Amino acid sequence: MTKPRSSQTRAVRAAVDADTQHGAVMPPLYLTSSFNFAGYGQGRAYDYTRSGNPTVDGLADAIADLEGGAGATITSSGMAAIHLALQLLDPGDRVLGPVDCYGGTFRLLRQCAARGLFDVTLVDQADAAAVAAELKAGAKMLWVETPTNPLLRVVDLAALSALARDAGALVAVDNTFLSPALQRPIELGADLVIHSTTKYLNGHSDVVAGAVVAATDSLQGQMRQWANTLGIAGSVFDSFLVQRGVRTLFARMAQHEANGRALAELLHGHSAVERVHYPGLPSSPYHALARKQQQGFGGMLSFELHGGERAAKAFCERVELFTLAVSLGGVESLLCHPPSMSHATYDAAALAAAGIAPGLLRISAGLEATADLLADVEAGLAAAASV
Ligand code: PLP
Repeated sequence: MTKPRSSQTRAVRAAVDADTQHGAVMPPLYLTSSFNFAGYGQGRAYDYTRSGNPTVDGLADAIADLEGGAGATITSSGMAAIHLALQLLDPGDRVLGPVDCYGGTFRLLRQCAARGLFDVTLVDQADAAAVAAELKAGAKMLWVETPTNPLLRVVDLAALSALARDAGALVAVDNTFLSPALQRPIELGADLVIHSTTKYLNGHSDVVAGAVVAATDSLQGQMRQWANTLGIAGSVFDSFLVQRGVRTLFARMAQHEANGRALAELLHGHSAVERVHYPGLPSSPYHALARKQQQGFGGMLSFELHGGERAAKAFCERVELFTLAVSLGGVESLLCHPPSMSHATYDAAALAAAGIAPGLLRISAGLEATADLLADVEAGLAAAASV
C-alpha cells in the first residue's frame, strides 16, 4: 500500500489529472446553470447548479478532505456559511456564543435571537467552568471561534468538545483565522467547521465565499439540503478561484506566519506598544494551548499602543504597506481598527465585554518581504510615539 499523502500534497493535487475526456491537467470549469437529462426520466448526477455542480463539489471535496470531514457545503459568503450552520437550531434551542467573535457573527446571532429563531447566550469560552454550567443548563450548540477575532484568544477545542458531547450539544468552530493548514477542529471533536473562504483558503482578496464542513454524513446531508433550499450555494467561478487558492494554501500560510511572528516580536519589544495579542509569542497566555492544538500560529495579530486611539490613528496614517481595510488572509498586508471597522456592529458595552480597547489595531500579515514590513511598522510606531 502506498504511504498516505500529507495534506499539503493533497491540497496541491486535488482533482489534478481527473479529466477523462481531454486529459486537462487542471479540472475543467463547469460554468453552467443546468445539466440536460440523458433522456426522458433519465436524470444525471447533476441537474441544476444551485443544488450541485462539479466545480463547486470539487472544491467542497478538497476542503472536506483537508479538514477531515465527511463532506462540505460551499456557500456564497462566510456569513452564508454561518447562517447555514445555524439552520440546525429551532425556536427554543439555545446556542452558546463567544463574548468576542467576528462582528458579523455577533450581529447574526443577536438579530436571529431578537426574532425568536433561537436563543443566544454569550459566554467567556476561556472559562471552561462557565461553559460547563451553561451547557448543563441546556444548549443545542456551542459556537466557537479560535483564535478569536480580533483578540486572538485561544480556547481549548478538545476540552470544550468533550463537555459539549457530554451535554448533547453540537460544536461548531469558525476556523477562518487558521485554515485547515494550521488547525483541524474535527480531529479535536468538533461537529461542524465554518470558513469564510474569502480569507486564507482563497488567499487573494478577490472572492467572497464560505464553506461548512460536517463531521458526519447525517450533518452533511442536512447542510447540503438547507443550502439548496435557502439558495445560498457558492458560485461556480468563485469556487474555481478558491480551488486555485487552496493549492497554494500551505506555502502561503508558512510565509503569513513568518511575517506575523516577526511583526509580533517587533511590536512586543517596542516602547510605544502597550500590549500585543499573538499566540505565537511565548509570553502569550494562550501560547501553550495554541502549541498543543494548532499546527502553527498564523499571520493574524492585534496590538494596543500606549497613546491609545490617537496613537493608533497616527500609526494608520504613517504606514504604507498595510492597507487600511477590513478582511484578512490575502497576499497583501492589511490593517484594521476593529472598533470602527470589522467590529462596528458591537456597541460600547459589547466592546467592553469583549475587551476590545478603543485604540486596538489588527494586522493581517501578507506575503511581502519581511524586512519591508518591519521597516514600515517601525516608521508607524515612530509616528505613533510622537503624538
Ligand atoms: N468568520 C470570520 C472569523 C471572519 O473574520 C469573517 C469575515 O471577516 C466571517 C466569518 C464572514 O465571512 P464573509 O465576509 O466571507 O461573509
